[in-house]
Amino acid sequence: MDWIRGHTIGRGSSAAVSAAKSIWSGEVFAVKSVELCQSQLLQKEQKILSQLNSPYIVIYKGCDVTKEKNKLIFNLMMEYMPDGTLIDEIRKQSGRINEQLIGYYTKQILLGLEYLHSRGIVHCDIKGDNILLGKTGAKIADFGCSRWVDPANRDGDANPIGGTPMFMAPEVARGEEQGCPADIWGLGCTIIEMATGGSPWTNVTNAASLLYKIAFSGQSPEIPKFLSLQARDFLNKCLIRDAKERWTAKELLKHPFLKELNLNSMANQDSVTNSPTSILDQDIWNSVEELETMNSTILRKVSSTESPLQRVRELGSNSSELKRIWNDDGRWITIRSSSSE
Ligand code: ATP
Repeated sequence: MDWIRGHTIGRGSSAAVSAAKSIWSGEVFAVKSVELCQSQLLQKEQKILSQLNSPYIVIYKGCDVTKEKNKLIFNLMMEYMPDGTLIDEIRKQSGRINEQLIGYYTKQILLGLEYLHSRGIVHCDIKGDNILLGKTGAKIADFGCSRWVDPANRDGDANPIGGTPMFMAPEVARGEEQGCPADIWGLGCTIIEMATGGSPWTNVTNAASLLYKIAFSGQSPEIPKFLSLQARDFLNKCLIRDAKERWTAKELLKHPFLKELNLNSMANQDSVTNSPTSILDQDIWNSVEELETMNSTILRKVSSTESPLQRVRELGSNSSELKRIWNDDGRWITIRSSSSE
């Protein structure tokens, strides 16, 4: 497919995402790009995303390699989601999403998770930043940490533990396992983000103590008291510390909090359809932005074969960096440097 790159619309720890347009059909899509020599993770994401087909998962459109400014760039094309991330939506709603809308997004994320889990895929990084919004509501995106549950499908993958510490399940923080229940814990934390506009864990002063608390304290994130009984019960089932006891996506879809919720009727409501101005309103095709190389140390995620706690302890030797990251915006953040991948 011949296409042209538009403005950068997002930037994560591993790649830049631009709007793009097909020269022949005029179709607009999003393209996630990284230099070919650093594209191992993005190629893994492409391999997983290309096998998925669900209305609750961002749609795969293809991949290619381009030469830009004398550099070879690996590109993953996908459906363009015009309304930003769930975090953008929380900010738009002044920091709190109402319970009805929480139910709406939660059901869509769960339907996406049920689809993934039934195919033996764990997302491993469910959080508001990785849920994208568009005309039909919420879709799961960013499969950079995802993996197959069955080791036979892992393709020599050393079974790494990955994700964002603030959203990590206890068994993941301990470095024991990262299966489907870990995504359900991440969903529980995401619901708290939607309800409070804040992080699932509060009063933690540094990365190591957060992971220690998640791993060994016996506590779960505090459930907002202002939610309805049904919503609180639902959250309790997502945040059961024992992964074997935690409810599955299938079970949660039958919970009274979501059971009666009709996605079609909700989709027509104002609170759901009032989207921010699309970036397509801008003259995005006038400039082809230069891709910046992302070789600086970016601390956003854990991706390691060691336990996350161990990894944070190692980072502790660079305490000024950890402090800077922690203080950045009070939200959680990473622990992965591109050079270590
Ligand atoms: P992370 O730091 O979580 O690893 P990443 O490098 O894997 O991030 P993504 O999270 O996939 O990158 O994308 C970065 C940002 O780009 C998103 O937060 C979002 O704002 C934007 N973005 C990604 N995919 C799309 C899309 N399909 N449509 C519109 N915007 C997108």
